[in-house]
Amino acid sequence: MAHRVHNFGAGPAALPLPALLRAQEELVDWSETGMSVLEHSHRGKVYEAMHRDTLLRLRALAQLPDTHDILLVQGGASMQFATVPMNLLGPGEVADYVVHGTWGEKALAEAKLLGDARLAGKPPSYTKTAPDDALSLTPGAAYVHYTTNETIHGVQYHHVPDANGAPLVADMSSDIFSRPFDYARHALTYAGAQKNLGPSGLVVLFVDKALLARGRDDIPAIFRFRTHQKSESLYNTIPTFAVYLLRNVCLWLEEQGGLAAVGEVNDRKQRALYAALDEHPDTYELPVERAARSWMNVVFRLHDADAEARFLAEAARRELVGLKGHRSVGGVRASIYNAVGEESVARLCELVRDFARG
Ligand SMILES: *Cc1c(COP(=O)(O)O)cnc(C)c1O
Repeated sequence: MAHRVHNFGAGPAALPLPALLRAQEELVDWSETGMSVLEHSHRGKVYEAMHRDTLLRLRALAQLPDTHDILLVQGGASMQFATVPMNLLGPGEVADYVVHGTWGEKALAEAKLLGDARLAGKPPSYTKTAPDDALSLTPGAAYVHYTTNETIHGVQYHHVPDANGAPLVADMSSDIFSRPFDYARHALTYAGAQKNLGPSGLVVLFVDKALLARGRDDIPAIFRFRTHQKSESLYNTIPTFAVYLLRNVCLWLEEQGGLAAVGEVNDRKQRALYAALDEHPDTYELPVERAARSWMNVVFRLHDADAEARFLAEAARRELVGLKGHRSVGGVRASIYNAVGEESVARLCELVRDFARG
């Protein structure tokens, strides 16, 4: 067995071991073609079959109805911060952005460069989501954008905000497929793959066909959602290996029993970790309000920089890695995405308790 550590990194993040082992086994001679998937043309039958199969598996896992299409594109979630308004925000239209962390801020900043994008709500600090009843939504907005899980601050929505009838757009980069979710209620959902779905270099979008039909055409083809829709995400050379790994992750999710089963495991993981931290308020400070605590990114601080350094050093000694908080906020962040098992979380809980007891 290969040596594996407990990886709590925020992204690129842990991948399910069976998905990696399958890739290892299939790497050199894929589907008895005498070639690696890395070497196959994206226009060839073998690749195309796998590509279509991946789209079908994504659809089944998400329980996505026919009203929506799935797009696979490159460029990362950050590119979607630009392409969403390019496609969906026309002259004379307004897009509303609900912000509760760094990623939402970035999405809004990009949209402002391209059209009339407005801040519709923001909490006083990034320790909770913006309260729904205090949102100032524009009547007839082109769309309302929000971030389901703010990866850096560890703040997550546990409900779908009320968009007052406008199409809802969600950046789900760090909690997609972590539990059942009403994708059909969202006009557009997008996620960079490198947190919960696979490797970096790929973005998955679920898009309402009616919304796409109204999308703008006066933008370059490569950025146009309809280009990717019409070509079934094979307009140009897609990152084929990333799609292949995404397929392996889908197979693993199916083996786990789908998103309902995965959601139950994730719930147990977050409960266990927050419980361990809550037991020792003298040692750990949890900035995020309970109702908005993230299931995916558990953020906490120790009382001084010295204690934090000792905590991280002891973590490293126990092969618990990737726990340092984002450089912009400091502290500790444990990302417990789908591929981080209950055993890894149990080891982290053990460290949390041992360290507090001295
Ligand atoms: C990681 C992340 C992004 C940025 O993803 P890139 O693929 O690096 O562009 C955007 N939004 C959220 C919520 C993220 O977690």
